[in-house]
Amino acid sequence: MKCRNCEQGDMLEIHENYHYRECGLDNVTIVGITTRKCPECGSVMPMIPNIEGLHACLAQALIKKNGPLRLQLQKKVWKEAA
Ligand SMILES: [Zn+2]
Repeated sequence: MKCRNCEQGDMLEIHENYHYRECGLDNVTIVGITTRKCPECGSVMPMIPNIEGLHACLAQALIKKNGPLRLQLQKKVWKEAA
């Protein structure tokens, strides 16, 4: 599979922990997923299974962390998870 970024490199599949910056949080690491890496440009593409479920879990973790905002966040999460 060619890299979508540079269209030069053949993507290598690697099993690793992935720092999930795309979710907008600084401290989220997804443990043991497959990522595809381009040896040419260094582009990384995570293969995240059930991303909706992941986001639901992230949301639950946020709710537990931020006690005072619990109700507000929970409504938002409920809508987004549905
Ligand atoms: Zn590339």
